[in-house]
Amino acid sequence: MASRFDWIQKELKNLNKNGLYNHIRTLDSPQGAWLVVDGKKVLNFCSNNYLGLANHPRLVEAAQKALGQYGVGPGAVRTIAGTMEIHHQLEKRVAAFKHSPAAISFQSGFTANLATIPALVGKEDVIFSDELNHASIIDGCRLSGARVLRYNHCDPLHLEQVIKENEDNYRRALIVTDGVFSMDGDIAPLDRLYEIAEGYDILLMVDDAHGEGVLGKGGRGIVDHFNLHGKVDIEVGTFSKAFGVVGGVVSGNADIVEWLTQRGRPFLFSSAVTPPDVAACIAAIDLLEESTELVDKLWSNGAYFKQELNTLGFDTGKSQTPITPVMLGEAQLAQDFSRLLFERGIFATSIGYPTVPQGKARIRVMISAAHSTADLDKGLEGFKAVGKELGVI
Ligand SMILES: *Cc1c(COP(=O)(O)O)cnc(C)c1O
Repeated sequence: MASRFDWIQKELKNLNKNGLYNHIRTLDSPQGAWLVVDGKKVLNFCSNNYLGLANHPRLVEAAQKALGQYGVGPGAVRTIAGTMEIHHQLEKRVAAFKHSPAAISFQSGFTANLATIPALVGKEDVIFSDELNHASIIDGCRLSGARVLRYNHCDPLHLEQVIKENEDNYRRALIVTDGVFSMDGDIAPLDRLYEIAEGYDILLMVDDAHGEGVLGKGGRGIVDHFNLHGKVDIEVGTFSKAFGVVGGVVSGNADIVEWLTQRGRPFLFSSAVTPPDVAACIAAIDLLEESTELVDKLWSNGAYFKQELNTLGFDTGKSQTPITPVMLGEAQLAQDFSRLLFERGIFATSIGYPTVPQGKARIRVMISAAHSTADLDKGLEGFKAVGKELGVI
């Protein structure tokens, strides 16, 4: 008998048939260079744990201490039950770390975007958005009700053309871009975007989720990388990637940060991250302020792995960061590649449509400071063997 869920079954079968179904592995270990997945020890090339902080003893200890001091939960949203001192501390520390006027924390990078974009622009406004922006930016743009005008990926000349075509046709405007594009590892030309934003008096927002803890001096992010301190209006960050914890943050212009305490809906209608999370984030900032060692290791690991893959004959796209895409084309090939790697004890997920365009499926290798050279060599051996087996190299 037909049921009202039949369409779901049909859609799921289609995903499976097209190699687009997300097969989610279950971990029996903390995050690190190695994982226990479905009972098997495998080399981890999947996580955004760039600096190996997700299970770092200093972060774990800070979280445990905060548990004792503040308990497990924040009680309610900050505007209603009051905000814990530790959340203020985190915000002050982030602002100082990034040499930014002010900062406000959120539950995640995703909610930081959903909070910020609709608070700044609405129906009478326009958003100039890089065509490859992250889903959370796209959703934030949709929620705002503003007219969204996409410009070609990382193309300031095209951005300027689109702005000119629409000049005098809006109340306010916002330029928004990812900092590091997560699927390709390329970096937004933020210096050029800043000049354009200044020239046309447009708000400028960068989502630096993959640049936080990676780019700039000691991981201070994309604004530091381009030396644009105090010039970029809004810098969104996440604590879930290089920082190894969870949570989001907006730093930048102090008026905007204050406005978000009044009009950022996820701030007003959703509780803050837990005190242990916040304490762990602060411990991560401590580590990054003490030494650039982890960030340096991340970059040297990334450079080594990419260079060796290229020598083997793989196409690693246009990455400028430790994110290493291995371009394969068809989604089915990428899935087969990932499965054969896994059989060899290497966990590297394939990524296909709709996360990347059709025909641009790939394995995305996420390099971490936690990897040793021996780990990277084991990975390269696996890529070589599977690449030959499938006729990629
Ligand atoms: C991962 C990512 C996010 C989401 O961050 P979470 O803290 O995991 O919600 C937002 N924006 C970009 C560009 C990302 O890569």
